[in-house]
Amino acid sequence: MKRAIGPVLLLMLVLFPAAAQASAWEWPLGDRRIDKPFDAPDTTYGPGHRGVDLPGRPGQTVRAVAAGRVTFAGRVAGIATITITHGAERSTYQPVEATVRVGDAVTAGQPIGRLLGGHPSCRRACLNLGRLRGDTYLDPAQLLTAAGAYRLIDPSGPPPEPPDLVGGELPIDGPVTSAFGMRVHPVTGVRKLHDGVDIGASCGTEVPSVGAGTVVRASHHGPYGLQVEVRHRESSTSYSHLSSISVESGQVVGPGTVVGRVGSTGTSTGCHLHFMKIVGGRPVDPLAG
Ligand SMILES: [Zn+2]
Repeated sequence: MKRAIGPVLLLMLVLFPAAAQASAWEWPLGDRRIDKPFDAPDTTYGPGHRGVDLPGRPGQTVRAVAAGRVTFAGRVAGIATITITHGAERSTYQPVEATVRVGDAVTAGQPIGRLLGGHPSCRRACLNLGRLRGDTYLDPAQLLTAAGAYRLIDPSGPPPEPPDLVGGELPIDGPVTSAFGMRVHPVTGVRKLHDGVDIGASCGTEVPSVGAGTVVRASHHGPYGLQVEVRHRESSTSYSHLSSISVESGQVVGPGTVVGRVGSTGTSTGCHLHFMKIVGGRPVDPLAG
C-alpha cells in the first residue's frame, strides 16, 4: 500500500493545482454536471475544447461563477458572449444573452444572462464556460470541482488513456516462491537469471492482466509453456506455465482482464505463475517499483 501514496499525491497535485490559489467557482447553471470536458489546445488556434460544456435549457438563468466585473458583453464570431474578470483570471459564458452591461460589478451567483440554444457541440442547449489567465485557457473544472461532483469522462468521447503500470503489483495473491535474480534452476540445475517471479497458486487459478494493454503473445513458448504477453504503454508483462489461455494475440485487455489460468506447462515443477515484466526488451524485477 505504501507504494501507492506517491502516485496518489502526484495525482492530487495534477488535478487540483489551482484549488489552493484561486477560490472555488459557483456552478453557473443549476445542474452540477459537465457534458464535455476541457481539452487544452496546443496552439492559440489549434484544435481543442476551450472550456467545459454544462448541460442546460434555452432561457435558463446563467449566474456569475465568482465576484468580478463584466468586461465584455456582446458577440464573438457571432456567438453571444459574456466575460467577467476576477483579478488575474476571467470567466467566459457562451452562448448567453447578457442581462448585465460592461462595467457592472457582479457577485458570485448573481444572474448575468439567459442561456441560448444552438451551441454546436451539444444536442439541445449547453453553456460553454471558459477560464482564462492572460491568453491561456485553463480548466474550469479545477475550480468547479470544489463546489460539487462533476463527470470527468465524456460519455460520447474517446475513453481516457489508462495509466501505465504502477509497478510492484503482482497479478495474483500467493507466496513468492522464487524471486527475480540469479539462481540455480530447480529443473535444469543451471545457474542463470530467473527472469520473473514465481507465485505459488493452485492449478486453475484465474490470472488477470496487471494493466491495460494489447496481447502480443498467446501461445506455447518453449520452457515458458503456455504464455500470454501483454504490451502496455512503456512495458510488457507476461504470464507463463498457464494451463489454459483465454485471450488471443491482438486483443485489447484492461487491468483485471483474465488472460488464462495457473498451470504447470513448459519447464515447471508444479502449478505456479511465472510473472515477468519487460522494459526496453529486458526483464526487470516485477517487485521493484
Ligand atoms: Zn519462474
